[in-house]
Amino acid sequence: MILETAGLVRHFGGIKALDGVDIGVRCGELVGVIGPNGSGKTTLFNVITGIYRPDGGSVRMEGASIGGLPPHRITRLGIARTFQNIRLFRELSVADNVRIAHHQHVRYGPADAVCRTGSFHREERRMREEVEGFLSLFSLQDRRGELAKNLSYGDQRKLEIARALACCPKVLLLDEPAAGMNPSEVAKLMEFILQIRERFRLTVLLIEHQMRLVMGICERLVVLDFGRVIAEGVPSAIRKHPRVVEAYLGRNVPSGNRIHG
Ligand code: ADP
Ligand code: MG
Repeated sequence: MILETAGLVRHFGGIKALDGVDIGVRCGELVGVIGPNGSGKTTLFNVITGIYRPDGGSVRMEGASIGGLPPHRITRLGIARTFQNIRLFRELSVADNVRIAHHQHVRYGPADAVCRTGSFHREERRMREEVEGFLSLFSLQDRRGELAKNLSYGDQRKLEIARALACCPKVLLLDEPAAGMNPSEVAKLMEFILQIRERFRLTVLLIEHQMRLVMGICERLVVLDFGRVIAEGVPSAIRKHPRVVEAYLGRNVPSGNRIHG
């Protein structure tokens, strides 16, 4: 297991957003996290990435306990994410958004930067090339100087993934990356997620509302409802799982989110 939670609990006032969540993700796996609105999916990501402290239970990354560590430490341990509500530096350029994320991997020290040593220039050049690489991967290289806020919605979503990849993660958490995209953009994005997983040897955890999509690309699904894991398994089994069908169909769920959609 590369990432593991055990008995994870997080409350908000009287709400148990996570009520004892055990998940285990194997190295290289692509796991979908699904569940009705408010079932705790985003909170799970927020606790794993240190945005919220757990009220109970543990989070382990490669065996080391990371529950309650601050976000930047967790990023450095190899977990990067995107947000359901896009969080870019809106007033910075596209390239700067990626550069800032990538910067934690430079190998020169403050003295090199002040004295402009050879290693400073080498690292700066390497970093510029790598940032360009991430941008072209997402066909954003021609927009490198544009302010992030001026990108189309779909491109902002891509930039968020580019920025997360620039942290050189081992585990990538994507929170509804296809939200607001049209069906053909969504199909491309899913194909793209499969490609970057291969290329960067990532383990991916994907929250997605559009069921047919997660069913299509995920090897395994974890289903949350009211902060608990109610089912997990391969997509074909999950589709028929009585508790999952009940969680989705027993309530007023928009048709796009229906499991039989
Ligand atoms: P999902 O992503 O599955 O839609 P969330 O994890 O966002 O669900 O939310 C789970 C529950 O926790 C919901 O009832 C939500 O209202 C509550 N919640 C999440 N974050 C907060 C917060 N910061 N403050 C108060 N309640 C929250
Ligand atoms: Mg959410």
